[in-house]
Amino acid sequence: MNTWRLVYDDFVPEEEGRREALCTLGNGYLATRGAAPESTADDVHYPGTYLAGCYNRLRDTLNEETVENESLVNVPNWLPLSFRAGDGAWFRLADMTVLDYKQELDLGSGILIRVVRFRDSVGRTTRLAQRRFVHMESEHLCGLQTTLVAEDWSGRLEVRSALDGTVENTGVERYRKLSCRHLRPLRAESPSPETLLLVTETTRSHIRIAQAARTRVLARGEIVAAGRTATLDLGWASQDLVLDLEPGGTVTVDKVVAVFTSRDRAIFEPAQAALSTLGRAPGFDELLERHTRAWARLWKRSQIQIGNVETIQVIRLHLFHVLQTVSEHSVEHDVGVPARGLHGEAYRGHILWDELFVFPILNLRLPLITRSLLHYRYRRLPEARWAASQEGYAGAMFPWQSGSDGREESQLVHLNPVSGRWVPDASRRQRHIGLAVAYNVWQYYQATHDDEFMSHYGAEMILDIARFWGSIAVYDHGRDRYVIRGVMGPDEFHTGYPGAPDDGVDNNAYTNVMAAWVLLRALDVLAMLPKERRDEITGALGLEPGETRRWGEISRKIFVPFHADGIISQFEGYEDLAELDWQDYQERFGDIQRLDRILEAEHDSPNRYKASKQADVLMLFYLLSADELSELLEHLGYSWNPGTIPRTIEYYLDRTTHGSTLSAVVHAWVLARAHRHRALDYFIESLLSDVADIQGGTTAEGIHLAAMAGSVDVLQRCFAGVEVRGDTLWLNPYWPAELGVLEFSIRYRGTALTLHIAGRTVRVSAGDGERPPIRLSCHGRVTILRPGEAVELPFLDG
Ligand code: BGC
Repeated sequence: MNTWRLVYDDFVPEEEGRREALCTLGNGYLATRGAAPESTADDVHYPGTYLAGCYNRLRDTLNEETVENESLVNVPNWLPLSFRAGDGAWFRLADMTVLDYKQELDLGSGILIRVVRFRDSVGRTTRLAQRRFVHMESEHLCGLQTTLVAEDWSGRLEVRSALDGTVENTGVERYRKLSCRHLRPLRAESPSPETLLLVTETTRSHIRIAQAARTRVLARGEIVAAGRTATLDLGWASQDLVLDLEPGGTVTVDKVVAVFTSRDRAIFEPAQAALSTLGRAPGFDELLERHTRAWARLWKRSQIQIGNVETIQVIRLHLFHVLQTVSEHSVEHDVGVPARGLHGEAYRGHILWDELFVFPILNLRLPLITRSLLHYRYRRLPEARWAASQEGYAGAMFPWQSGSDGREESQLVHLNPVSGRWVPDASRRQRHIGLAVAYNVWQYYQATHDDEFMSHYGAEMILDIARFWGSIAVYDHGRDRYVIRGVMGPDEFHTGYPGAPDDGVDNNAYTNVMAAWVLLRALDVLAMLPKERRDEITGALGLEPGETRRWGEISRKIFVPFHADGIISQFEGYEDLAELDWQDYQERFGDIQRLDRILEAEHDSPNRYKASKQADVLMLFYLLSADELSELLEHLGYSWNPGTIPRTIEYYLDRTTHGSTLSAVVHAWVLARAHRHRALDYFIESLLSDVADIQGGTTAEGIHLAAMAGSVDVLQRCFAGVEVRGDTLWLNPYWPAELGVLEFSIRYRGTALTLHIAGRTVRVSAGDGERPPIRLSCHGRVTILRPGEAVELPFLDG
């Protein structure tokens, strides 16, 4: 890598899946994996194109039960482009002698480049150069340019350009035993000599997808005529173009594709929209230039510089993938944040709590996008209310995994690849997802002060989520405390108690403390709404004073389990679980990140052990400052000593396998204050999540978006210590000098700010404009910063 490029200078079949995911190009509307244009899905390649929010459901029978899964659909592949010289075989890298190979992802411009020099079986040498984009300005357009140079041969060149609707969702091996055909072919046409049209429809959600492709041949910058033969079949439209090449001759093939679906707005129907958009689109080069300019604008808003070269390389890659998974184009569509990006099929493209790690990046740069992504949740409030009522609760119970309509999409059984057995999946008991939704609404508001959003949407979400926690919490007379039973915390290893059914655990500390937090925020929201709106909303929700009084009481009396030595217990009874023989498992298996799978294969269960997949109690230190947590626990009547934080971190760190990439982010964060070097180790691990594929090969199935965003957030909110709370921008840097100078731009309540950290000084400069002054607080010193001004503040050495 250089700091703006991810470069591969060899072709390694075993790594191709990961590289495809890492070289995905997208624009928030659609994304296409960095697969070779001539490839089809096989053991090495997996071309996948995904449209945000385009889901379909399929049913299967498993152990005589019907299971239904919703998936983000792998839509028709727009890339196919291959060629052959004379009567030779169609180009496949594996059949050629590769002389030079380079693949380069240009992060600054969002362009994927591939250059290959190869010799075929009869000794002809050809140079192939390809560039592609998924347009950042015109979200329906994609382009692929292929330039071929016949270095030492002449004669006939045949080029095949296609749209392939025969694709299936087969990107994740574990899911292949279940149905994977989501598309029904509708139309394949060639409406004009240079144009192909392919229309398909998802089988059950009936989303119509139209792709129109224009393939042009250019020599010396001029369009040249080529003989063309179209093949139009079920789910397939292709054109073979025949050309003549002189020795040393160069030819360029430009393929521009327009994609529309029946979910799009402001269209008559998708096929017509695709054809007319394509008809009006300029040539590849002009499109590329506009695309590059759109990326330049995006990077200007999201600029970041770090002295340490290795760090900035990966940080830019991570930001790049965040910015192309969700973008300003998301705003026009009803979409959420899929945990694995639009880069692969793991988690079937579902939306989990991972947005908790992504929104802080957007809140401080492109808050409009957070707002629209929060609307994804708001639109699904009725479904969440229904889900709560079905379990006998009030309020809104958001699903652990969400897709098209917001019903629970977590699978009921999952395949353990280690044992080959289908095992029950209890993860839907992670009710804490609703706490994350409320937390996200609150954080968005802190960063933007968007009263209109809070008043019309955010308040209702927070109130209905609080209502759920107010109803799931039950009063325990013996303790004179409220308890929450039968849930799972963020640590997915604990689905129940040893030997008992997977009915969840009681009093997960993270859940209970955050439930108290949300109840308090709900009371804050009520207090802060203008009276008229408060009356409207309480009237609409039927919220009576008795219920809000109960919220207040629960927020003072929820039970939090502690170990005898004062450490917050992950859940009630955790202290009594057995210690795992870590050394034994490490020696026998090496990689024990997915200890749950290993134990199940041994007919054992992690429920028996003090062993966690990822941070659980420690999530409290991640989401709440030590002061906030102290206040909350004090409000709950516990005398908690923040001095126990280091011991608590050690305790759980010793018992965590980091089977989720989120774990490294959280641990980097919580260790930052006390153990800078160890924090850096976890931070580096979070940087490696996908570039080094540290979860044992899962990157090929999609990037780990939360870890990517989380690593950037560790820099900005943890190491640089930028926090938005109340009406103040707090700066509390603990900047590791090893990382060199940091400079990055954010937007706080409409004002552009650039922060520059060097040595033990932070300089904050505000952009010009008619904006209100900003209140900054650095280690207790309050400064008022006006537009156009800059201030230098010394900070303590952490
Ligand atoms: C983690 C979850 C996370 C999911 C998707 C799982 O391995 O346990 O916390 O939401 O991955 O990233």
